[in-house]
Amino acid sequence: MRINIYAIAALTLALSAPPCLAGPSTEPELQLRIKPGPMSQSTGRGEVEVSLTVPGVRIAAGAALFSLTTQSPGMRAPQPVTDLAVHDAEGPVRVMGGSPSAPRWTSTRAVRGDLVIHYRLPIDNALEHSDLPPVNLRIDGDGFSTSGRMLIVQPEVSRPYRLAINWDLSGMDPGAEGVSTFGDGNVVLPAGSMRRLADSIFMAGRLNREPRKSTGAFSAVWLGDDSSFDPRPLMRWTGELHAWMSRFFRDKTEPPYRVFLRHNPYNPSGGVALARSFLVTYGPGVTDAGLKTLLAHEMTHTWTSNDLGKWYNEGNAVHYQALLPWRAHLRPLGEFQKDLNLTAARYYTNPLMHAPDSEIAPNFWKSNWLNVLPYDRGAMYFAVLDGKIRKKSGGKRSVDDLVRAMVNRARAGEPVTEAVWVGLLRQALGPEGPEIHRSMMAGGLMLPASDDFGPCFRRKQIPIRRFELGFDVASSDKGRVVRGVTLGSEAAKAGVRVGDIVSYSFTTEGLMRDPTRTLTIEVTRDGRTFPITYLPRGKAVDAYQWERIPGVPDSTCLY
Ligand SMILES: [Zn+2]
Repeated sequence: MRINIYAIAALTLALSAPPCLAGPSTEPELQLRIKPGPMSQSTGRGEVEVSLTVPGVRIAAGAALFSLTTQSPGMRAPQPVTDLAVHDAEGPVRVMGGSPSAPRWTSTRAVRGDLVIHYRLPIDNALEHSDLPPVNLRIDGDGFSTSGRMLIVQPEVSRPYRLAINWDLSGMDPGAEGVSTFGDGNVVLPAGSMRRLADSIFMAGRLNREPRKSTGAFSAVWLGDDSSFDPRPLMRWTGELHAWMSRFFRDKTEPPYRVFLRHNPYNPSGGVALARSFLVTYGPGVTDAGLKTLLAHEMTHTWTSNDLGKWYNEGNAVHYQALLPWRAHLRPLGEFQKDLNLTAARYYTNPLMHAPDSEIAPNFWKSNWLNVLPYDRGAMYFAVLDGKIRKKSGGKRSVDDLVRAMVNRARAGEPVTEAVWVGLLRQALGPEGPEIHRSMMAGGLMLPASDDFGPCFRRKQIPIRRFELGFDVASSDKGRVVRGVTLGSEAAKAGVRVGDIVSYSFTTEGLMRDPTRTLTIEVTRDGRTFPITYLPRGKAVDAYQWERIPGVPDSTCLY
């Protein structure tokens, strides 16, 4: 998957429950006011003023009062917070703390009654550098966007609150609008956790919209004009796919879904998935095909994700990311085949392909090969199950029916557990179902049958060169310095040397997926900077791909 999975893992911006778990309407109402000042893309500077009023607070002297995320990976320096002023029923409250390393403030006295927290966040696009997850405050066009966790302080309160979000756009250009994960303009949300503010996206300015006038469940917003990329056709496509997927997963009515787009010069095509919305970034090198795969993948999550684990959530999202758009006649056959073979190439060349599922999460930061395994193995597991269920039922049932059963249970508020899933497998396949599951979890090879991807494709075994970066780096104050080069590697042959300072922007996961993709790094050596391009691939190993069977017409391929 092209998505920057680090961004999501690091910030745990996972899918969260939609903000509709209404509590009694007697819950107190928290008031949030967001007042952006003038913004300019040309200077990359601006400012947002925020004030938050939390009613009925009772916090002891010296206890934590509120916190704010001021740093995200890839920022040069923490987000400054200025003009912080805190009041309660008795007047001004002196607060302490709020250092960049511990952005948490405590009160010097007991705090009671309405707690009012007011502050400004100066925005400076120059705080960004490479590999940035797209959650910091950033200016595009005459507006800004950010995640809730970097915009709004989290008060140390645990009870549910109703939430009123109010935009004051008087400081922005005429025509500016404010939107968030929760909807357009000012909104009042039913009682719920404060966490939902953190797990959300905010955007204000003169917005571009697709559709231009919101007519249905899907909408997309972005700021500024980028002559190199017009998001409109892609967003129209995404809206059509969302409607199709909503029917596929048997919604009674299509649920709302919003895409926030923003420019990312460093690590485009990364994204952050949130409740019923998604922030996707575009920039140099991003292809329409890559973004389509990413969007289909993320939208699948909004229906199917639950607490079972990545083997389930990522497995079915990768299984469906090209299959559903193809079935919806929104992507051609060839793009489905290409995506399938990229997934297969990375899985069958993975040197850790037999790692049990239980070893993946504890070692997440240690190995990219482990990080990607639940995506690829999970996808092949769903394909194996799909093939078996189709054959056993004479084509009447497929793995889709099982996934839909899980989606239905989640909708009805019934438990959605691994035991439930295994029960569905047993119903569909007898003892073989749980056996395939046990094998996958233990690290067994998931190999779909030759004809499991329909009548037009057959499996072939071919050697594929395994991903090998060929050098490793250590961070220093000069940047990334090469500290070792693999003997005989393509990197060594291309001239990468120990001591080189290297800069690059790529996601390793993306490079690992495509055996033909070359890598260009900028190398600084002896005061000179120059590019080195090579194919980051090592030894060839036996792998599987699916090829077209000659003579079978396209019209019979859909399965
Ligand atoms: Zn995913």
